[in-house]
Amino acid sequence: MMEAEIRILVIEDDDEIAGRIAAGLTQAGFTVERADNGFDGYAMGADDDFDAAVLDLGLPEMEGLDVLRRWRREGHALPVLVLSARGTWSEKVDGLNAGADDYISKPFHVPEVAARLKALIRRTSGHATPVLIHGRVTLDTAAGRVTLDDKPVELTARELRMLNYFMHRIGRIVSQTDLVEHLYTLDDSRESNTIEVYISRLRRKLGPDVIKTVRGLGYRMD
Ligand code: CA
Repeated sequence: MMEAEIRILVIEDDDEIAGRIAAGLTQAGFTVERADNGFDGYAMGADDDFDAAVLDLGLPEMEGLDVLRRWRREGHALPVLVLSARGTWSEKVDGLNAGADDYISKPFHVPEVAARLKALIRRTSGHATPVLIHGRVTLDTAAGRVTLDDKPVELTARELRMLNYFMHRIGRIVSQTDLVEHLYTLDDSRESNTIEVYISRLRRKLGPDVIKTVRGLGYRMD
């Protein structure tokens, strides 16, 4: 992510534990979103750009390990810290085999969860592809730098966010609703015509064909 905000997805069905984790992580400076069942958690992790997830194993709708396996099978590299009630050796092995990046047993102290997440994000950010290249456009996601034909292009924070969103979804249709939900906080005006304004600015800076309009559906970068 190019902004300082670090977004954590907490998937935990126990309201008390989830609340405690969310409060502690928020205090540690993270932005937290919660899911209280495996299915919602899976969908949020697959759709949105979180920096890491805290994943409970015993979950309604879809077991934690199934959530993790499905993400990995679909190519989502989201770093995952698994929470386990029992903390047995075999469970830990199962978690790691399913693609967990780290593992913590209940009961735990929330500051430890925050510390593990920080380490995890630091460790995995080297493995993720920080530089995205698409045609003539290069986006260094860590530095927030963009080039077109190797020449630097100045983008505003929101333009960068929009470009980053598209570059993670090459070939896929992105609707106006997706963009509004991803690019605006609750305080901003959420009018979709401003999306068109940002799209046209990106086209002006990066070439008219950088993002195509898919009539009636949204936009696509391909
Ligand atoms: Ca549980």
